[in-house]
Amino acid sequence: MEQSQVVWLSARATKWSYKESLAGRLETLLKELPLSRCMKKKAPVAVKTHFGSEGAHRVVRPLFIRKVVDGVIRAGGKPFVTDTVRIRGLDYLKVANENGLNHLSCGAPLVMADGIFGNDNVLVPAGKEQGEVLVASAIYDVPSMIVLSHFKGHVNAGIGGAIKNLAMGGLSGSSRSNDWKHGRGGMHAHHTEGEISWKEALCTRCDQCVEVCPLEVCSFENERFHYNQKRCWRCGRCVRVCPEEALHMPMNDDRFHQGLAESAGAVLSTFKKGRILYINFLLEIQPECDCMPMADVPVIQDLGILVSDDIVAVDQASLDLLRESPPLPGSAAEDKGITRGEDVMLLLHEANGQKHIDAACELGLGNKSYDLVRK
Ligand code: SF4
Ligand code: SF4
Repeated sequence: MEQSQVVWLSARATKWSYKESLAGRLETLLKELPLSRCMKKKAPVAVKTHFGSEGAHRVVRPLFIRKVVDGVIRAGGKPFVTDTVRIRGLDYLKVANENGLNHLSCGAPLVMADGIFGNDNVLVPAGKEQGEVLVASAIYDVPSMIVLSHFKGHVNAGIGGAIKNLAMGGLSGSSRSNDWKHGRGGMHAHHTEGEISWKEALCTRCDQCVEVCPLEVCSFENERFHYNQKRCWRCGRCVRVCPEEALHMPMNDDRFHQGLAESAGAVLSTFKKGRILYINFLLEIQPECDCMPMADVPVIQDLGILVSDDIVAVDQASLDLLRESPPLPGSAAEDKGITRGEDVMLLLHEANGQKHIDAACELGLGNKSYDLVRK
């Protein structure tokens, strides 16, 4: 089978010149790529990224977003920087601004892809696990997209790369006419099997589970953990942050990864072939997703930036580079006793990110076999 090309801009900068810096090499690469071929002249181009959270500061830096935005403008497109509603839209734009992402820093407007209420979306067929999903309108309607993904860990997916960025972040939160289970919450919820359980004897009432819930649907009532089962997305954040393992959520890992691939496939199905470019940032590789209300120190040294027009190849190459890299001292990897040669994200999360890459390949979204070109 033919290999997909993945360009790797190493994070190492060994020469004293802007051109040799990471930002300089990204700028050069974007000038060399035939970007105009993947966009329509003067048509909008979605630059999809993750705006982060209050306290999660390790998002893709505005400096790099700006390089991409400038590249799109040079190629004749009209860029906007976008993400979907995860917390209330206006609050999310405020978080983005606090994380340094705004029109001034990025060079293009920041737009909520599914509107400030998360209700603007289109129902798109997804596959046997997911059924139909609500793709955010501003992503559904544009002819071209550049996907900027901060590659890091994730509570359910094991890794958060381009596939997860679109599978969750390309979907809308809710809808005027459909149940939330077709949206971002459904992406999380479809794989759970049963209710969240709470062990009173282990609970120290630290309240971290309550603080981390994005929907504010869990609380302590009469000194007992309570959550609204109808509204809960089963995102697993409350379970993840519990330091005492007092919370448990039964889930089917295989179904989750299949659903993730299907959901990403649904987003891709709204674009013509060759209209999307993927840029993975293997920088500040922290253990958790940028949706958590904090960012721990990186577990692996900065590796650089990977660029490809193949969503599967770019995630596979990113994961392979992580696997080859030693865990950093003083990080969550060291806390867990993870040593060189072990799969850091797999051991940190007990969730195997390879599964959704495999599923995406099976669905024909891309190629796991790649040619890594180092620049
Ligand atoms: S799984 Fe936990 S954190 Fe997530 S929505 Fe449900 S109660 Fe909230
Ligand atoms: S995070 Fe765990 S220990 Fe803390 S209040 Fe919630 S259930 Fe109890």
